[in-house]
Amino acid sequence: MEKVVALTKRRGFIYPSSEIYGGLSGFYDYGPYGVALKRAIRDLWWRHMVDLRDDVVGLESTLIMPSDVWAASGHLTNFVDPLRQCLGKCKKRWRADHVTGNTCPECGGELTEPRMFNLMFKTHVGPLEDEASEVYLRPETAQGMFVDFKNVINSSRVRVPFGIAQQGRAFRNEITPGNFVFRVREFELMEMEYFVRPNQDDEAFEYWRKERMRWFTEVLGVKPGHLRFYDHPQASLSHYSKQTTDIEYEFPFGWGELEGIADRTDFDLVVHQERSKQDLTYLDPETNERYLPWVIEPAVSVERIFITLLIDAYDEDVVNNEPRTLLRFHPNVAPVQVAVVPLSKKPELTGPAQNVIQALRGHFRVEYDQTGGNIGRRYRRQDEIGTPFCVTVDFETLNDQAVTIRHRDSTEQERVKIAELSSRLEALVG
Ligand code: ATP
Repeated sequence: MEKVVALTKRRGFIYPSSEIYGGLSGFYDYGPYGVALKRAIRDLWWRHMVDLRDDVVGLESTLIMPSDVWAASGHLTNFVDPLRQCLGKCKKRWRADHVTGNTCPECGGELTEPRMFNLMFKTHVGPLEDEASEVYLRPETAQGMFVDFKNVINSSRVRVPFGIAQQGRAFRNEITPGNFVFRVREFELMEMEYFVRPNQDDEAFEYWRKERMRWFTEVLGVKPGHLRFYDHPQASLSHYSKQTTDIEYEFPFGWGELEGIADRTDFDLVVHQERSKQDLTYLDPETNERYLPWVIEPAVSVERIFITLLIDAYDEDVVNNEPRTLLRFHPNVAPVQVAVVPLSKKPELTGPAQNVIQALRGHFRVEYDQTGGNIGRRYRRQDEIGTPFCVTVDFETLNDQAVTIRHRDSTEQERVKIAELSSRLEALVG
């Protein structure tokens, strides 16, 4: 984990938020390669959850929502974690379910009895800071889909079963943020509410469990041996859930939740219908029945996938008797898919190299690397950021109109005509 954290800082994937002022615990900024990786994750999620399907539509709802939403959804009373504080030297706060016994894991001091702590960030709309102006930063995007449910069914052609998907920021005032970006206070959720006929939830639940696991292994290239399902026992279910399965990843700090797939029943639509006094029922054109659909929800954050991909891809090996560090990213997620590296800075090579990169730009995530240092050093740098393919323009290129593709994982090289480079890379990147 420490090696991965050091690499991500060194190579500009991630920085502590407001670092020059000492940082803010549980908040991170993303640098150039981090942004590229996050965008790839987001795009692949949207592509497979929305674009490639005919039964899911998109939504963007606001980050700030009124108290009524959170009162109805149960978050005001139930979105709490048990907090215990150390009465000894360190005064640290702990989540009660993360400590055993009555002594502080840090300094051995006595711990207070647990008290419930609500994880939502509260703020006010308008100039008056009274109860009437209280609003909350959303701790999940899901409530947007429920609150807008009627709007979506009235304004689009969706028919049950169908889904509404959303990506966007969520905020949780976590008691103990940590393990790098595994648990942060501001993150980006990707959630999809899949609406089915009442009591027809089991089949959809099974489908989404499998489909989401397939996405991680086949599309993102996560090693199947590091993933498993964890079915929640009845006692640990959230207040809205009938059944929940987590897809867990084996992190260096143990197995942890990567994604949750929850069977939310009709809980949310029922409570919003009650509180808003609006009719949220759906008229099924096939059966002519009116009902509140049930909901299956896969939910995952970009940050949990980000840390999973980095840990899963990190590797060290020895090439030509020299140790190297590399990220074995799947080409789908690599921040840079193709780096173009002219062998020398001489204009007779940089000219053709620029032409090569121009032809690839827009089709692949590309980078041009002409910076000093021999070619070997530039390959190592690309290995460290996980670039699967480097295209080298050398003096031979001027004669044979061909370039070399160097493969990150095997370090093998192949010679390809410039005219065929794009289609060859397409086949490699997929
Ligand atoms: P925990 O019990 O670990 O606090 P939770 O069960 O409340 O988590 P969910 O509400 O199921 O978490 O969250 C859905 C998904 O959102 C998780 O699977 C994870 O991918 C992501 N997630 C939740 N909390 C955080 C966080 N603090 N930082 C980053 N990602 C998060």
